[in-house]
Amino acid sequence: MRLSPRHPRYRSLRTRARLAAAHRDGLVVPEGLIAQGRGEAFDYLLGERTTPSARRAERTAARWLLAAEHPVVSVNGNVAALAADGIARLARAVPGLRVEVNLFHRTPDRARRVARALRRAGVRDVLGVRPTGRIAGLPSDRARVDARGIRVADVCLVPLEDGDRTEALRALGKRVIAIDLNPLSRTSRYADLPIVDELGRALNEVAAEATRLRGRGTRPRIGPFDSARALAGALARMRRGVTRAAAGTRPRPRRR
Ligand code: ATP
Repeated sequence: MRLSPRHPRYRSLRTRARLAAAHRDGLVVPEGLIAQGRGEAFDYLLGERTTPSARRAERTAARWLLAAEHPVVSVNGNVAALAADGIARLARAVPGLRVEVNLFHRTPDRARRVARALRRAGVRDVLGVRPTGRIAGLPSDRARVDARGIRVADVCLVPLEDGDRTEALRALGKRVIAIDLNPLSRTSRYADLPIVDELGRALNEVAAEATRLRGRGTRPRIGPFDSARALAGALARMRRGVTRAAAGTRPRPRRR
């Protein structure tokens, strides 16, 4: 289907088309399509914009990643399909960052496809295609990680992650940065640093801030972050949006 850039929901339709194609190509599982739908609903409530509180979280995330000894970003099928370029940009902005394929629904073929999408986007070294370690506290395949990546990471960036794994990573003493549009998800609530923003917007902002910080030439430190305040900021924005909508502000119909 041809999408018109003049359609008011062009970006969201394009994203859906991209994910559907990635599903046909074996990169994304059906559950990933459902996760995207849930994310879109929350983004709708946020006004599809980065909030000031998300921007603060993104800037802090850049500092944490640069300050970490072993920073790792975990990449699943949705992340590879939607934002392989953003992951590559982040890897360039944070030189020590390891990029690891980490799948909830793992098959060797899908792991290879995710790695291929990342390499095509410019990520040089992709870990996790053949996992060599495990993390405690999770059953079966979901525990499998790379011994040079998530296993030894001190700071883990987990975009679009599920709550169990986030909790398991925290239980191992790792600092977890989440990117998740749902401020009520277990992932957002367990993370040390929850970024409530759309994946592509969040990765761009974190990479841009990391580039700025490196330009200044000082090595940042891992400072405190008030995650409860960040989640409250996202919820307050959503509440305001709903209140306004309930007061009768309706979108104008499109001119034909
Ligand atoms: P939890 O286990 O943490 O309570 P969940 O069961 O909702 O969460 P998943 O179904 O794995 O976990 O969903 C992943 C999360 O990613 C969802 O909360 C969804 O809102 C979010 N999400 C989906 N697409 C995007 C996107 N493009 N950008 C940011 N967040 C997204």
